[in-house]
Amino acid sequence: MKLQIQNNFTTELPADPNQTNVPRQVHQSAFSFVVPKKPTNPSLIHASIDVANAIGLSQDDILSTDFLNTFSGSIIYPGTKPYAMPYAGHQFGNWAGQLGDGRAINLTEVVHENKSYTLQLKGAGPTPYSRTADGFAVLRSSIREHLCAEAMHYLGVPTTRSLSLMLSGDQVLRDVLYNGNPAYEKGAIVCRVAPSFIRFGSFELFASREDHDNLKLLTDFTIKHHFPQIQKEGVEKYLAFFQEVTQTTLNMIVHWQRVGFVHGVMNTDNMSIHGITIDYGPYGWLEDYNSGWTPNTTDNQHKRYRFGNQPEIALWNLYQLANALYPLINDAKPLEAILEAYSTDYEKEYLNMMRDKLGFQIKKNQDVVLIQSLTQLLEKVETDMTIFFRNLSNVSKADAATTAFNTIKDAFYNEKDLDETILKDWHDWFEKYSIRINEETLSDSERKNQMNTVNPKYVLRNYMAQLSIDDADKGNYSLLNELFEILKNPYDEQPNFQKWFAKRPDWARDKVGCSMLSCSS
Ligand code: AMP
Ligand code: MG
Repeated sequence: MKLQIQNNFTTELPADPNQTNVPRQVHQSAFSFVVPKKPTNPSLIHASIDVANAIGLSQDDILSTDFLNTFSGSIIYPGTKPYAMPYAGHQFGNWAGQLGDGRAINLTEVVHENKSYTLQLKGAGPTPYSRTADGFAVLRSSIREHLCAEAMHYLGVPTTRSLSLMLSGDQVLRDVLYNGNPAYEKGAIVCRVAPSFIRFGSFELFASREDHDNLKLLTDFTIKHHFPQIQKEGVEKYLAFFQEVTQTTLNMIVHWQRVGFVHGVMNTDNMSIHGITIDYGPYGWLEDYNSGWTPNTTDNQHKRYRFGNQPEIALWNLYQLANALYPLINDAKPLEAILEAYSTDYEKEYLNMMRDKLGFQIKKNQDVVLIQSLTQLLEKVETDMTIFFRNLSNVSKADAATTAFNTIKDAFYNEKDLDETILKDWHDWFEKYSIRINEETLSDSERKNQMNTVNPKYVLRNYMAQLSIDDADKGNYSLLNELFEILKNPYDEQPNFQKWFAKRPDWARDKVGCSMLSCSS
């Protein structure tokens, strides 16, 4: 197995001079060297061939002992020096101080076909940033990360990738429901892949300590290596950087809203500087379209990170990043201008995204109202988001409102919920929708094809992930493998997998892991 190694981060940024691996505050350093804990009996459960190819590895490499040893943390790949990064963050709106890679260890950067990637093990043991926790990860959360990161990629949502999922062979103690019932679970290790794992919180850490030298070093490094298109200098450079992060973050959120993804823990330490989805913890997929929904039980009271609040929270997080970058800019006005533009830009992008979902190529002013009334209707009774939008593409220009309505009827969880008023509202909506699609130039089948590129047929429904976890826990990985394959082509019909194009079964409604998830992982 041959990787093309590069060590820009550890060569150009300051290292923690202290190499003892105990929890502590680390100052004036961008990283601490740390060695993964050797797992007792590692075994490969699954690897993503596309990610392997992207970093220059083949199917044979995946099956090699080098691969097993390297990506389980058993050996250190020649020429590399693993490290963990400190960062800070706002958690649930509150300043949390120093956090950092508590159970993530960056192995190295690799270069392939002129692209560079950082490879990071998650769950490979403690680091100076582990605080009171153990540095390990359990199988259930690792399956969720591996499957979802890749599913998101194939949906076209910017995301970190997942190269591999391994069992460590060790047991890890977790209290899943935080109710005083800890139990041993199988330990697992995922290898995540991204341009870098620099987060909003990486900048917040230096800024909070008024360590402006390192704040500048980190920002200059990030721009030089990851935003090479920015060719400006001084204040202009930093503003262009902030502008780009704002734009890519906004773009990511529009995608989340398009596919019905709820991140669950949008703390600033979980916001990638690349505008890619990072840290798959208690995330969930909207089944019932409900803007107030969050899967994260820790957030049950305020629902800060609910589906409908994600755009607002991204902006809140961008304010924190702006504050952190302020010492490099020393002028609030241009930062505020970028932040103020976010809301109008978001509205515009959201509108266009929804037009795509509805099959509108022509932009009409009345679309705003049509979309608003649709989302209001979707909230009225339990309606499956994925099935609704996928089936909507079967509506024809010639259909009467009733026929059109029947096309999407499968999306309702309980038809009995549809009282007369709601039925009438749907009827009215479909009458307007019919007029609207008749203004389009595309034929029915052309519109359907276009809609099917933005409305997935298959998403990683919460219960699907949980079923594969239940099986995997017993050593059966066939469902995990099957889900991985289906989710590679989420927009394709894949009639063989039709059974996964179905509403959440009733047993999953209130089951832990399906509709309720804690941060325990
Ligand atoms: P999260 O909520 O998963 O984003 O984690 C918040 C912080 O807690 C990060 O600094 C993580 O690295 C750290 N953390 C989470 N789980 C563990 C663990 N099992 N061991 C050590 N640190 C952890
Ligand atoms: Mg995190």
